[in-house]
Amino acid sequence: MGKPQKVATLLGERQKIEKEIEELQRSCEHRTKSIKSVRERLDSTAMVIRYVCDECLLSIGYPSEKEITKYLKK
Ligand SMILES: [Zn+2]
Repeated sequence: MGKPQKVATLLGERQKIEKEIEELQRSCEHRTKSIKSVRERLDSTAMVIRYVCDECLLSIGYPSEKEITKYLKK
């Protein structure tokens, strides 16, 4: 398989995976959350600290300065 075909296949797969994640997150009730460091966006490698749903891992809120400090000390 040539490189362009391979990239096209991988991009197609990524789209499928992202759609599946989106559907899981949409159907989730986000009952419990924890502070975690997560990638800011799917296409970014920058890490940010957010409240993340324990079940679907969607970031659903911003912790306060105090909560972040506490998280980083752990
Ligand atoms: Zn959730």
